[in-house]
Amino acid sequence: MPQDLTFACRCGALSGVLHDVTPNSGCHLVCYCRDCRAFARHMGRMDQLEPGGGSPLVQVLPARIEITSGSEHLACKRLSEKGLHRWYAACCDTPLANTVGTSKVPLAGLWRPNFADLAPFGPVVTQGFVKSAHPRGAAPARDKGLLRMLGGLLKRGAAAYLNGTARKSPFFDANGKPVVTPTVLSAEERKAAYAE
Ligand SMILES: [Zn+2]
Ligand SMILES: [Zn+2]
Repeated sequence: MPQDLTFACRCGALSGVLHDVTPNSGCHLVCYCRDCRAFARHMGRMDQLEPGGGSPLVQVLPARIEITSGSEHLACKRLSEKGLHRWYAACCDTPLANTVGTSKVPLAGLWRPNFADLAPFGPVVTQGFVKSAHPRGAAPARDKGLLRMLGGLLKRGAAAYLNGTARKSPFFDANGKPVVTPTVLSAEERKAAYAE
């Protein structure tokens, strides 16, 4: 049975609902890439990473995400001019989700620590970029589930285009523009974010 799961930033000012969650409605993953870790470091959230510095994420269709309160706190940063859009709650600097810069790609990687109930996501099925894991942590030895992730992404994306919900997102307006203008980290902030 699909479930609706609530999520909230640390201070609780921004909260929302992820609709229709089953283990197959998204991809439960841990991303060990340096960019995700740099963002966690920048936001002061290293304590929420998995061993080896992996970011716990759930990839979902943006149309399933509803922000129910505190949307005025929604903000967005990019690690560089080319980086992903990394959405967060500015009230308490809690990461929320990463997306590409357009709603044409129906994909959001939600920051899992904002959910109290993890069971409906099922086990972690994908581990990516383990070669970039933090050398001092006990990260898994190899990537897994990347094809499954890609397959699910294409399948869900195609279904969303068929049923007309592909471009529905709390992060982009009807014209496909980000709802708030992202800021880009300064060279100094970037240096600090990537310092391991
Ligand atoms: Zn907050
Ligand atoms: Zn990553």
